[in-house]
Amino acid sequence: MLRPTMFLRGASRPLMAARSTAIRAYSVQAPQLAGVDPSKLVIQRTSTPSELMKEEDLVFGRTFTDHMLSVEWTANDGWAAPRITPYQNLSLDPATCVFHYGFSCFEGMKAYRTASGKIRLFRPHKNMARLSNSSARIALPGFDSDAMVDCISKFVALEEKFVPKTRGYSLYLRPTMIGTQRTLGVGPPGSALFFVIASPVGPYYPSGFKAVSLEATSNYVRAWPGGTGDKKLGGNYAPCILPQQEAAKRGFQQNLWLFGEEGYVTEVGTMNLFTCWVNKEGVKEIITAPLDGTILEGVTRDSILALAREFLTKEGWQVSERKYTIKEMADAADEGRLLEAFGAGTAAVVSPVRRIAWDGGVGGTQKDIMVPLPEGKEAGPIAERIWKWMAERQYGDIESEWSYPVKLSSS
Ligand SMILES: *Cc1c(COP(=O)(O)O)cnc(C)c1O
Repeated sequence: MLRPTMFLRGASRPLMAARSTAIRAYSVQAPQLAGVDPSKLVIQRTSTPSELMKEEDLVFGRTFTDHMLSVEWTANDGWAAPRITPYQNLSLDPATCVFHYGFSCFEGMKAYRTASGKIRLFRPHKNMARLSNSSARIALPGFDSDAMVDCISKFVALEEKFVPKTRGYSLYLRPTMIGTQRTLGVGPPGSALFFVIASPVGPYYPSGFKAVSLEATSNYVRAWPGGTGDKKLGGNYAPCILPQQEAAKRGFQQNLWLFGEEGYVTEVGTMNLFTCWVNKEGVKEIITAPLDGTILEGVTRDSILALAREFLTKEGWQVSERKYTIKEMADAADEGRLLEAFGAGTAAVVSPVRRIAWDGGVGGTQKDIMVPLPEGKEAGPIAERIWKWMAERQYGDIESEWSYPVKLSSS
């Protein structure tokens, strides 16, 4: 399909940009910059609405809805009026800083259709607060989460027909922030663009869970203390593809990212990891790595911790956010104490693990850590229950403060 092209203020008018910079240089008082204002939203509808694809033909991240949401920002004026326009290409000068220095961060969230046909976002303020933090880390603008959620909600309402009706399906939203300043100078971008595109997606496991095999990786490091692994920056992801390809060549679906000589267990691929075991004190424990700056603060992770604290502690489980090592996992497996392990993220919600290959660490020997799975099943009972608790809240079966209703014009 031929797409029209969007011209950006900051990017395509270098003369204006130069003038603005000069004004900025001698303004003594900090200017009162405009915040994101959802009441200023301008909507330009497409004149060529697309046919809906058959739900079963959807491939993750390949088809997009008819429109996109954009909000431009400049250092002089702050946020411009939000706009919903036809989905279209961006026009950016080749010198734009996003291409050279990685001024890019993003989010992944979903809109779900309830049984009665309503639309819900799941904890969208968490995603917007996280994007605002990611953005600030790379000298791009922060913003008010409420205002941005309001804009996104209006965008989703406009794209209502693209939110699939079948349970397990959803509309994946990709909010993104990029630096749009046209300069090769390394510095804080004077202009930025926030945009959201949306893609209808099917269930991660169309025919039930499929437990994955992981390779424990220590020759590559995903995140480190003082680094940016706790932010959703574009630059964190490209370097993880080669290690994944190498693991795939050896027959593993994902990397289990270890850190340090101790072999701390951090994350799996682009998901947080949960381990269930009977700990050395003989107590059932569900454990995940703590938010020490090397762990992405997953919305799924946070939700699972809250659900575990609400429901599993009553059954004698201990819920822990603390450091643990791959050696502790291997010992637990050897001693029959390892119960389950699963990744956690928006795309799959939970992704059960069956096996972890580990080189044994410094001076150690290669080991296969086998995570038990019930006879004939691809997920353990905790993973299955958590998946169900999450779905009930995402699809609005259960009223929950996590579920954010999208106001539809028809209702
Ligand atoms: C996005 C992401 C997650 C999961 O976050 P959710 O908010 O649960 O989707 C976990 N780890 C990394 C590295 C991520 O990029």
